[in-house]
Amino acid sequence: MDTYIALDIGGTYIRAAVYPHLGIQPICQKKITTHGKGSAIERTCDLIADMWPDAGKVKAIGAGAPGAVDSKNGIVYSAPNIPGWKNVPFRQVLTDRFQVPVVIGNDANMATLGEWKLGAGQGHHNLIYLTISTGVGGGVIIEDHLLLGEHGLATEMGHFTVLPGGPLCGCGQRGHLEALSSGTAIARYIQEQIQAGVPSLLSENPSISSRDAAEAAAKGDELAVAAFARAGTFLGQALADYLHVFNPSLVIFGGGVTLSGDLLFTPLHASLERHIISPQYLVDLEFKTAALGDDAGLLGTLTLARMTS
Ligand SMILES: [Zn+2]
Repeated sequence: MDTYIALDIGGTYIRAAVYPHLGIQPICQKKITTHGKGSAIERTCDLIADMWPDAGKVKAIGAGAPGAVDSKNGIVYSAPNIPGWKNVPFRQVLTDRFQVPVVIGNDANMATLGEWKLGAGQGHHNLIYLTISTGVGGGVIIEDHLLLGEHGLATEMGHFTVLPGGPLCGCGQRGHLEALSSGTAIARYIQEQIQAGVPSLLSENPSISSRDAAEAAAKGDELAVAAFARAGTFLGQALADYLHVFNPSLVIFGGGVTLSGDLLFTPLHASLERHIISPQYLVDLEFKTAALGDDAGLLGTLTLARMTS
């Protein structure tokens, strides 16, 4: 039987699954920590070898990795959460070792592909996938193609300037959407306001998470409610710009912060309507929640592997 091996390489875990020729039920799957004995690329290779089927043929290996990934040339330029990953010739290393076709993409783009082909985006030709968790990421399907750009570096949805000179982003620039609307940004804003003397149910909590913030907001904490409103307002502003550029028929939201529901989405939609240049962009525009959860990346990678082999 023909099989595919899909990998989701993250800053904490490397997940892998073996899939049959058709369908999305894995034959087997496994997860190891990214950090440990050996480099991340050695650990990835060992995991593939460990999962290699005894019988049948592996048609292709696919991988999703965080950071700047040149999917055309198979190179990981940089993966901020994986020390030592700089200009790694990923495809070459894996092709040399396993002698099968290897495809690689940015993890957010792989999740976008997964949601489009197998999840919430099925049937749409133009869509935006936006994931809001520790960071903000996403991808774009435009006229039935995953938008990659010249070097495969499109589309860094979170590193989009919404407030020039604003808070410092993890990338080193200021005022990016990720620095204003991620779970990390929501928690940081609450901490800063508490330090400035604003009362909150969270004032005794030394390490606030966005989940703590959502719980406090549900209890009526004004600062927590304001923190989500601020994040949602900037998301709405950015989304208006994405709609102006891409004119999709669907926006898919994923990531833990979106579970906060109306706390985030009521201000988001109000801001979107304020910033959109024509109501025409909103006609027939659908909003959906991501359907594949944590498996979006693996299933997107599987889709890419099947498309290219
Ligand atoms: Zn940034």
